[in-house]
Formats: sequence, C-alpha cells, structure tokens
Amino acid sequence: MANDNNDLYQDARERLLTLQEEYRTRIEAIEDHIQNPQDDLNEHWEDQAISYRQNDMRKNLLAEAQQNLMYVENALSRIENGTYGECEVCGEDIEPKRLEAIPYATLCMQHAE
Ligand SMILES: [Zn+2]
Repeated sequence: MANDNNDLYQDARERLLTLQEEYRTRIEAIEDHIQNPQDDLNEHWEDQAISYRQNDMRKNLLAEAQQNLMYVENALSRIENGTYGECEVCGEDIEPKRLEAIPYATLCMQHAE
C-alpha cells in the first residue's frame, strides 16, 4: 500500500504522540502518589493496610503505563525508520483495523494469537 503509507503514518503518528503524552502524564501522577502517600485522604494508623494495598495497585498501574509508553515509543521509532505497520513475525502489513484499535501493535492478527 505504498501510496497510502504517508496518510497512514501521519495519522498513526498523531495518535501515538497523543498516547505518549497521556502515558507520560499518567506515570508522573502515579509516581507522585507513590512518593507522597500522605496526600491520601483518611491517612490514619488503622488505614495503613489500605494505603499499602493502594500503593501496590498503583505500582501495577505504573508498570502497565510504563510498558505501554515503551510500546508507543517503539512504534514511533518504527514510523521513523519506515517499518511501522509490519508484523514482526511474518513481515506482512498489519491489518489497518488492528492498527486503528492498537496503534502500537507489532504483530498481525494471526501472530498476535
Ligand atoms: Zn504476522
């Protein structure tokens, strides 16, 4: 799809940059919460257990956001070097619908199973 690639790249790039911004903001907010747990409401001794659990939850969210940010940044560099939208296993074009749903997908539907 040589002629469509520019539009596809342009569109994907914009969406990836938006996602990158979102994940960065989210990561900052979560890190801030982990470092400043006293910001939590109802921070009494008896609530420590809850607070710890919330911190665990936040660390999971943080790990997830960091991983997604990595995927997004990988996708952006694939746009730069012209390999965006190719399946890493078979080298075929990833289905446009799939890229629309997951702009940082690296595998076609068949190989993502
Ligand atoms: Zn494939």
